[in-house]
Amino acid sequence: MLLDVRTAMLLTSAITLVLSLCLAFTVRQSRRPAALASRLWALGTALQPLGWLLLGLRGHIPDLFSVVCGNGLICLAYAQYPRALAAFNSDQRPSQLPNLLAASTLVPVAFYTWLEYNVQMRTVITSGLLLALFVLTLREIHRGAVRALAGQHILAATFAIGAGLLLVRMVFETVNPAPLTSALAATPMQSALFGYAALAPVVATFAFFQISSDRQRLELETLAATDPLTGVLNRRMLDQLVAGLLAESRRHGRPLSVLLLDADRFKDINDAHGHHVGDFALRALVHAVRELLRPGDLIGRLGGEEFLVVLNATAESEAVLVAERLRASVAALDLRQDDARLALSVSIGVATLSPECSDFNELVRSADHAMYAAKRGGRNRVVSGEFKMRQAMLDSTTAD
Ligand code: GH3
Ligand code: MG
Ligand code: MG
Repeated sequence: MLLDVRTAMLLTSAITLVLSLCLAFTVRQSRRPAALASRLWALGTALQPLGWLLLGLRGHIPDLFSVVCGNGLICLAYAQYPRALAAFNSDQRPSQLPNLLAASTLVPVAFYTWLEYNVQMRTVITSGLLLALFVLTLREIHRGAVRALAGQHILAATFAIGAGLLLVRMVFETVNPAPLTSALAATPMQSALFGYAALAPVVATFAFFQISSDRQRLELETLAATDPLTGVLNRRMLDQLVAGLLAESRRHGRPLSVLLLDADRFKDINDAHGHHVGDFALRALVHAVRELLRPGDLIGRLGGEEFLVVLNATAESEAVLVAERLRASVAALDLRQDDARLALSVSIGVATLSPECSDFNELVRSADHAMYAAKRGGRNRVVSGEFKMRQAMLDSTTAD
């Protein structure tokens, strides 16, 4: 059964009109960074109803409107999809290349309509230019592959099918022994292409808004999980992630250590140089610490100038070595303000999972005690819970 091409075009016009009206409401509510991308996507859909209507009215209105403006509008519509995706990927003004490609359709279409009437050449050239726009769209979909989002696969499949159809149409119409004499001829190739044109905007729009909302969800999840100043995990997320690590460590009898870092005399930095310099110093501190951590380790902000590092599968002796490296790295930071070097250092308390200390809060408490011992010991140093216990035993024996 072959699709009547005129009916398909008028149907696509109606479908894209309804879709555009829905998008007009959705896009008004979209927020940065997806706002420009959504507007361009909506524009791509909004240009289609008139384009398809003009093409569908072929023979009833002058060729200038039907063939030239109709084809031009559809190409311009499909030029907005790669631009929308480029804006979505980089949050910058997208290039005008797709628009130029779309505008360049007008010359061959006008030529093969008025100067030399040739439906075959017109079909081959418009298919080729649309194919170029589809390839640009596919490139943007691929460039945005930060994560395999479901919407991204649907979008890629939709445009890949379209590109395939356009390529086949281009080749087929070039070598076709019985070339097209009417743009409305009902052939299997035409049925497939115009059937696709009716469905693609709906599926692609669904997929585009799915990737937009997925990205917004990911951004919100990151915001909810991290400390805005330093970008490390916040206490809530740290608690959640550590619960899983602790359960795993206990199950496999693996060690796990925590380091509690507290910036030394941090109030003095704020008092001497202002809060903004204090913020800058905190970010530099976190950066120095992160540089030395392994991929499976965690770092979170407990509050103020206190941070907790969780070293997975790490015994106490090794954790003390890591802590010493972190301490040395922070102390070596050369941060300057008004030609004065900021005296930034950390005191670190180390605690390791053991039968006596098996719960996360207990572990943090133990690391906190060790950290205060480091403060009392003169700051800019590392003290481990085990060392502290041995020290306490030693103190009690000497007291005897
Ligand atoms: P100590 O060596 O005993 O830890 O001394 P300290 O000055 O670091 O400790 P104290 O608890 O007296 O002061 C902590 C300071 O850290 C005070 C507070 O204003 C500052 N602080 C906490 N959070 C932030 C922050 O987000 N930004 C800045 N700039 N300062 C912060
Ligand atoms: Mg402090
Ligand atoms: Mg503190």
